Amino acid sequence: MSQYDVAVIGSGPGGYVAAIRCAQLGMKTAIIEKYPTLGGTCLNVGCIPSKALLDSSHHYEDAVKHFEEHGIDIPGEVKVNLKQMIARKDGVVEQTTKGIVFLMDKNKIDVYEGLGSFKDATHIDVAKNDGSVETIEAKNIIIATGSKPSTLPFISIDKERIITSTEALKLKEVPKHMIVIGGGVIGLELGQVYKRLGAEVSVVEYMDRIIPGMDGALSKELMKVMKKQKVKFHLSHKVKSVERVGDEVVVKADDKKGQEVEFKGDYCLVSVGRRPYTDGLNAEAAGVQLDERGRVVVNDHLQTTASNIYAIGDVIRGAMLAHKAEEEGTLVAEILAGQKPHIDYNLIPGVVYTWPEVAAVGKTEEELKEAGIEYKVGQFPMRALGRSRASMDTDGFVKILADKSTDEVLGVHMIGARCADLITEAVTAMEFRASAEDMARMSHAHPTYAEAVKEAALAATEDRPIHI
Ligand SMILES: Cc1cc2nc3c(=O)[nH]c(=O)nc-3n(C[C@H](O)[C@H](O)[C@H](O)COP(=O)(O)OP(=O)(O)OC[C@H]3O[C@@H](n4cnc5c(N)ncnc54)[C@H](O)[C@@H]3O)c2cc1C
Repeated sequence: MSQYDVAVIGSGPGGYVAAIRCAQLGMKTAIIEKYPTLGGTCLNVGCIPSKALLDSSHHYEDAVKHFEEHGIDIPGEVKVNLKQMIARKDGVVEQTTKGIVFLMDKNKIDVYEGLGSFKDATHIDVAKNDGSVETIEAKNIIIATGSKPSTLPFISIDKERIITSTEALKLKEVPKHMIVIGGGVIGLELGQVYKRLGAEVSVVEYMDRIIPGMDGALSKELMKVMKKQKVKFHLSHKVKSVERVGDEVVVKADDKKGQEVEFKGDYCLVSVGRRPYTDGLNAEAAGVQLDERGRVVVNDHLQTTASNIYAIGDVIRGAMLAHKAEEEGTLVAEILAGQKPHIDYNLIPGVVYTWPEVAAVGKTEEELKEAGIEYKVGQFPMRALGRSRASMDTDGFVKILADKSTDEVLGVHMIGARCADLITEAVTAMEFRASAEDMARMSHAHPTYAEAVKEAALAATEDRPIHI
């Protein structure tokens, strides 16, 4: 029987990063993945393919809507070739997942393909696709089994017309009318892809705002911009049935006043969140407890109720984000090596890759109000930047929240071009506990979108932005 210092179950961004860090720290490491490709949700059916389609559809939209203004004439009609768009996305996924195979090889990590299930706290059975079972032994085990799309109890996902994000990444036609249930990150990103490609898109959301959990100002601005893009929003709507009738999907919901409304479309994307995934893991055999929501219970060191078993990523509490899973993978590896690592969960940024992009770190205004913390607000609109006018990306703003007495930056919320990348400046500043004045006094290259960060910091610190 093969023996390891560490065995990692699941090869998503949590699992493969944990495995690499364990190997770097000198541990003999194995990784177990039930699918033939490594990389988990993120690389196969999540972050990477969705961004590939967002990029392709953005190019198409630019060609149709903006090229003429830029002085680029295209003879003939610009058309969507969805087959090629999906094929390019598949190519990106293939390249990226192969990259993980290379990294496993480079770090001398043994890869087992098959479903891993606990025999006891130090033994894992790997059920391979050829029907055989191999048992491996490990002193320490990291559960990184991730999550799967969840649904509502009364919805039956047929994977053809009533679909999850997984199917939405490989449609064979552009929907005529896509009904998106759930105005969270995944629904809005994929809704925007198909809107750009020509679908009518209706978002039906239970809450009274989209991207709940983010700062309210971001929700409002994103909805305003997406409405301009002709996405339809139905907030405060409680979906109560989703039925397929031939090639049509009928969604019934109660609106704010409790009146029944009906939506008809050819596709319905159910994007109501994700559930932690532990099916087949046999966690009980190892003494690993799950909570009432099916998440693996962990303490502050990400140790489960079995002392040699840890859990990371989507399968435990906290934001379901790839970079959060990665940080946790590193943390557990370093704990196993006897180090004392730390994660500041307040500084894990959240991003929505619509266009304009939305990104945030730290506390929202709502959270500061609730905690009774006195704060100052500095906000700067993207339209006041030369860079934004040059690229015609004038929607959005940067908003900085700073402590009223100390000027320490408590939260940064932004919507605009390339905010997914811009947010890193805010994370860095907040890691070093910068004041708004610190951020305002740093030189920002001109012309860049990042100048909005400097200006918002100036507005927060002394209410003296330069360009507005
Ligand atoms: C459409 C979409 C877009 C997204 N976009 C972003 C984004 O832009 N940015 C971002 O940060 N996050 C994004 N996410 C979320 C991100 O994908 C997840 O947060 C991330 O993948 C979680 O990583 P993980 O390692 O915890 O689990 P996963 O990536 O889910 O990986 C878990 C792996 O474990 C395997 N596994 C499960 N059980 C077993 C078992 N018993 N034996 C062996 N293998 C097993 C699974 O097959 C899977 O490969 C997106 C998600 C979706 C669906």
